[in-house]
Amino acid sequence: MEETPQRVLVVTPHPDDAEIWCGGTLARWIGQGSEVVYVVCTDGGKGTDKPGITAEELAATRDREQTAAAEVLGVREIVKLGYSDGELDDTADFRKHLVRQIRRVQPEVVMVTEPYVRSMVWHRDHRIAGQVALDAVFPYARDHLHFGELWSEEGLEPHKTGAILFWGTEQANTFIDIGETMEVKLAAVQAHRSQVADHPEREVVDYVYSRARDAGAEGGCEYAEAFRRVNFRTG
Ligand SMILES: [Zn+2]
Repeated sequence: MEETPQRVLVVTPHPDDAEIWCGGTLARWIGQGSEVVYVVCTDGGKGTDKPGITAEELAATRDREQTAAAEVLGVREIVKLGYSDGELDDTADFRKHLVRQIRRVQPEVVMVTEPYVRSMVWHRDHRIAGQVALDAVFPYARDHLHFGELWSEEGLEPHKTGAILFWGTEQANTFIDIGETMEVKLAAVQAHRSQVADHPEREVVDYVYSRARDAGAEGGCEYAEAFRRVNFRTG
């Protein structure tokens, strides 16, 4: 991908997915002047094996860490939808939230989890978020008669997004060189302290670097992030 988008909307199912899958790309684009907005779909309050912690406590920790991680990358704004971890559904309510943010931010690029993955374990929230984001981009955000009240009552104009970049895909067709932003990406991943705390620091570093090296090998550079890009007509 040659061009740097001016406005990017990232739809992340849980706190931490965005940094792990596209933090290097976001840091690169932000360094080149992009404005990035996060939509964090769930509160991340369930993903632990520790007894004695409540979902509310965990969600509060995840929230603080997500804010810190986004700051490391220079993300401009975080919109939190606050769904419970594990409870995303393909509902009109969720779709409308995403359509609202697409119309408000007017992104050229939306980034989200690949919904259609077969060869690895994939969280249900990842499938649902990817699918609903795709629907929200096309056709719901594009046509003003969908969720017409967003137009008539909130004054949000329809918007044609140019492309979706799906992360976590089995069919990557787009590789973004993150050689210059590996350190920033790593720092953003490490800001999710409660999620990396159970692993030795070396292991986290190796994980981030080896994944980037694998994507880079496919993409023809040292370190990359891999996406499936789907283009939409904007003219
Ligand atoms: Zn996740």
